[in-house]
Amino acid sequence: LHETPPPKLPAKTPSSPPLPRQNSKTAPPSPPKVIVDNHGRVQFDRVGFLGEGGFARVYEVKDSRNNRLACKVVTKTSLKTKKAKTKLYAEIKIHRSLQHPNIVNFQDCFEDSENVYMTLELCPSGSLMDMLRRRRRFTEPESRFFMVQLIGACHYMHTHQVIHRDLKLGNLFLDANMNVKVGDFGLAALIENPGERKKTICGTPNYIAPEVLFDTANGHSFEVDTWSIGVILYTLVVGRPPFQTKDVKAIYKRIRANEYEFPTDRIISSAVQHLIQQILTQDPSQRPTLHEIVDHAFFTRGPVPSYIPTSAHDIVPDFR
Ligand code: ADP
Repeated sequence: LHETPPPKLPAKTPSSPPLPRQNSKTAPPSPPKVIVDNHGRVQFDRVGFLGEGGFARVYEVKDSRNNRLACKVVTKTSLKTKKAKTKLYAEIKIHRSLQHPNIVNFQDCFEDSENVYMTLELCPSGSLMDMLRRRRRFTEPESRFFMVQLIGACHYMHTHQVIHRDLKLGNLFLDANMNVKVGDFGLAALIENPGERKKTICGTPNYIAPEVLFDTANGHSFEVDTWSIGVILYTLVVGRPPFQTKDVKAIYKRIRANEYEFPTDRIISSAVQHLIQQILTQDPSQRPTLHEIVDHAFFTRGPVPSYIPTSAHDIVPDFR
């Protein structure tokens, strides 16, 4: 399973936002072992490496009270262009405005001479993508549990005028109690005027809504997250994204043709198939609302576990 970033798009379309990528051949130096902000206000011990994204590296740090946190580090050399700075400031502004039990909590941001740092709630159990790799697919009760939390977070974002625009399994982190924490607001957009449409082409190929790719004149809005929620639901119960193929162009072709199938060699409930089909509707205005999704029979007529045991990281839980 791959969650590759979108390729460069033709020059005439609004360009996708990937920030200048750090050249892996000349990896930037590690941030200091003891991270201190410019004003000597805060200090963190860097204790481990958590992962790397498009433009940031994420470390585990400890504060002066021994609390463990994640620290997202962006080198100032990658922030030379105005566009890169604007994007990072947007991510910070949006992420720090959101407080919800299923959204990675944004604690603080600061800088030193080399880097900009964001301290975040630590999600020590990896992402749903990591877990899917171990488990291959999830049971429908587990999928309901994760989806209810994701939809709750998404509803909160939308009522705060934020579109995430990059919802995918790799951005759904898990806390120590197996609760979902939506992270990575690097592509998020704030809708400042009612009815405003976004025109920037962005997202991750497997999860990208058709209107982002094919209705660039009209733009897109909150419904792109609903589409990604449909792709996520399919991926949880089937084990791979619906439009996945080897090359990105072929994925886009399949998205345009709404071409996906359910496996026939195992039972996928007709309720979940029906819900996925409703969500993966080409016309964004015809997609169900988040309320309509959680009111669907898939959620109302099947068990939603009150919690998921941590053993579910590796083995199928028994909900009997
Ligand atoms: P980017 O915006 O550059 O894509 P991400 O926010 O996706 O960066 O983070 C990159 C990686 O760092 C993630 O895939 C994950 O492995 C790790 N990571 C990010 N945030 C956290 C967190 N709060 N807790 C634990 N690990 C994290």
